[in-house]
Amino acid sequence: MNASEGAVTPMMAQYLEIKGRYPDALLFYRMGDFYEMFFDDAEAAAAALDIALTKRGQHLGRDIPMCGVPVHAAEGYLLTLIRKGFRVAIAEQMEDPAEAKKRGSKSVVARDVVRLVTPGTLTEDSLLDARRHNFLAAWAEVRDDAALAWVDISTGEFRVIACPTARLAPELARLAPSELVVSEAKDIDLGGLVSEFGVALAPLSRGSFDSAGAESRLCGVFGVAALDAFGLFDRAELSAMGAIVEYLNLTQRGKLPLLRPPVKEAPGGTVQIDAATRRNLEITQAMSGGRDGSLIAAIDRTVTAGGARLLERRLSAPSRELPEIRSRIDAVGFLVGEVRLADSLRGDLKQVPDMDRALSRLALDRGGPRDIAAIRSGLAVAGRIADRLPGDAPDRLREATTGLRGHEDLVAYLDAALVADPPLLARDGGFIAAGHNAELDEARQLRDEGRGVIARMQSEYAEQSGIQSLKIKHNNVLGYFIETTATHADKMLSAPLNETFIHRQTTANQVRFSTVALSEMETKILNSGNLALEIEKRLYDGLKTMIMDASALITQAAHALSEIDLTAAFADLARNDDWSEPQVDDSRAFAVEGGRHPVVERALRRTGEQFIANDCLLTEADTPAIWLLTGPNMAGKSTFLRQNALIALLAQAGSFVPARRARIGLVSQIFSRVGAADDLARGRSTFMVEMVETAAILNQADDHALVILDEIGRGTATYDGLSIAWAVLEHLHDVNRARALFATHYHEMTALAAKLDSVENATVAVKEWEGEVIFLHEVRKGAADRSYGVQVARLAGLPAKVVERAKVVLEALEKGEREGGTRKHALIDDLPLFNAVPAAAPAPPKGPSKLEQRLSTLHPDEMTPMQALAALYDLKSEL
Ligand code: ADP
Repeated sequence: MNASEGAVTPMMAQYLEIKGRYPDALLFYRMGDFYEMFFDDAEAAAAALDIALTKRGQHLGRDIPMCGVPVHAAEGYLLTLIRKGFRVAIAEQMEDPAEAKKRGSKSVVARDVVRLVTPGTLTEDSLLDARRHNFLAAWAEVRDDAALAWVDISTGEFRVIACPTARLAPELARLAPSELVVSEAKDIDLGGLVSEFGVALAPLSRGSFDSAGAESRLCGVFGVAALDAFGLFDRAELSAMGAIVEYLNLTQRGKLPLLRPPVKEAPGGTVQIDAATRRNLEITQAMSGGRDGSLIAAIDRTVTAGGARLLERRLSAPSRELPEIRSRIDAVGFLVGEVRLADSLRGDLKQVPDMDRALSRLALDRGGPRDIAAIRSGLAVAGRIADRLPGDAPDRLREATTGLRGHEDLVAYLDAALVADPPLLARDGGFIAAGHNAELDEARQLRDEGRGVIARMQSEYAEQSGIQSLKIKHNNVLGYFIETTATHADKMLSAPLNETFIHRQTTANQVRFSTVALSEMETKILNSGNLALEIEKRLYDGLKTMIMDASALITQAAHALSEIDLTAAFADLARNDDWSEPQVDDSRAFAVEGGRHPVVERALRRTGEQFIANDCLLTEADTPAIWLLTGPNMAGKSTFLRQNALIALLAQAGSFVPARRARIGLVSQIFSRVGAADDLARGRSTFMVEMVETAAILNQADDHALVILDEIGRGTATYDGLSIAWAVLEHLHDVNRARALFATHYHEMTALAAKLDSVENATVAVKEWEGEVIFLHEVRKGAADRSYGVQVARLAGLPAKVVERAKVVLEALEKGEREGGTRKHALIDDLPLFNAVPAAAPAPPKGPSKLEQRLSTLHPDEMTPMQALAALYDLKSEL
């Protein structure tokens, strides 16, 4: 590269021009077999990828930092960069370098960006988790309406839902999109979303969100005159969907992925589960962040990638529609009873490749012969599966079979056209079966014959020269050539052999020659080989078009297979793990007999321990009820709480449940909160978070909600905590009228059961034996007699002296309690060696305090969580 100051080489000028269009992305600039990066991009990429940073020439008098990755290994590097939060623009060479040379020596190969790789727009199997969706979402607001649209471009699934600002966080928690498109003009708390959900933000211009433009863009994509056929969309929904299409256009450079017609989700159609609850219940992700230890990891028995993704969708958004839930459960029930059928279905399903993703790669021109083969084998199995399902199968399964049939012609055609095990890329040919196309067969024959002729030439030349070791070889530089060892050089280079053999190259040990006949043969082979490749390429395009024309039906088949897979997987789980059919109705009953926690049970099974099943008979009637659960730490309170929430969730997802019997009145919302002390790992002002989250429940829970609260109020001083817990329970009972399970170690609260009609006490039983506590993990009606905290402390390894001391203090305190509050203080003072300073009993207030006055002016319903938080800080400063 010319290094003179100020002079910008033509290549650098081209680079800078392209880079200028993608300032927010790393630019992969194709140079031969490498993608090169320059300047800041090179520095960032070298650090992120841990590869060497070098220099290449100078720009404006300064060295140009450079690094590069080989094209054939680019996917791995891309994955690392995307995971680290980069976007990558890929600039390819748009012409043969020879063409550029023809234009003059200074001319640069034309290059342009063919794709912008971002977290939400991946399609490569190697960059995606086959068993999880990868959603790209867009959120739009138009006047008073707001909507969230999302798409999985690797499967084409496209949905939209009305989504006011307050619903954005829970929806993002449900979908866990990897990228969110937002308008540049919006000032929502973007940073917060990024840190809360790990979603990458992609700001787009305001114009891209224009709803009128969106409508025509969408009509264009789906080839319809009006979108009415897909449903009625409001302006915000159009705007969000339009922004998605615009972003795809931008990142895919005009090549749109296959999009299924948009589906509008009804906001009330699925169980509302907020982000904190999802975290707590560890539905698709364990607290540790991974999948291990989550509900989905424990119960996933699907055998296809599509089935696994459907399970993820169902668990993330259980249904609230009774007919839908019942039809899912019926289908599972049918397969539970048909063991042989279920097993043979699963056997077939194991051979089903990921048709959804193969289809989307083909649509984006990133596919290859193997994707076509995937569709061939998927459709072939689909036919077999349809034949297996009997006429008396439940409607849901019979409806699925309609999508599985009618692909015989396509399968037969693809069978004849493609070899059994085609290569990944179309580029190198060799995937069209012999006998499919006469022209191709002829070209291949010529090419192969040529190869035979070359073999014959080798023996002729060996004979002619008398050199038995003479070989004809091939490489990319010389093409075909004749090679002998250097020892024969003289002989070959002199008459008469030098009349036939033309010297080409001498290396350390070899001499290489060509002949006129060999060159002619080479041209012939090359021509027929190229011709064969060209024909294959043409046939490939034809097959691809054929598949795209059938894409709607193929998608339908893929859907049906996922549905059958998930149904069979639930049935397998139900049979092997002894789950039973839940009864879901539109009452407010909640009655679980012999319930278990699927994840804890599984973990215990590994160590050979037994999980103790427990009943949770809140109510069989339509009146909501609350259980107040007491018991020492480690008794199994949290496990019990969560297992009941999971049983409701599983039932409405359409599965059998880990219980002997379960009757669940339709649950509209599930809330789960854990007291702050359990939540320290998240390192926030934990008590504040707990209160903000608890406030959200009290403000939102309706009378079909299921609420589980675990040690709420624990994060603060005893009396504060107790009074907060007390008030929260009263509110749930009187105002929300929700079904709830409430675990606490405040024994004082057990008195509430006598005061409130539908609150009952329950406790997790422990046994004391020789001064030690034994956890029975049995939940019984009634209050715990004592907390056993001291015994648990001993189990935890507290020094014996401290434990003994604690016992003395406890006894003194308990005695004091029995004899009246004032005695307590005296007793504590009496204790030798222990001058505890008792908390001063609060003086009875004289009229409303300053704090109370300020509190009465607050209106929680009208406050955002941030305002509530600020108000709390403010109040606290008054103390
Ligand atoms: P708590 O909330 O009362 O402190 P946990 O629910 O965290 O107690 O349970 C503590 C441990 O006890 C769990 O990790 C589990 O191993 C065991 N456990 C809980 N419930 C049961 C059960 N029903 N049967 C068997 N073991 C259980």
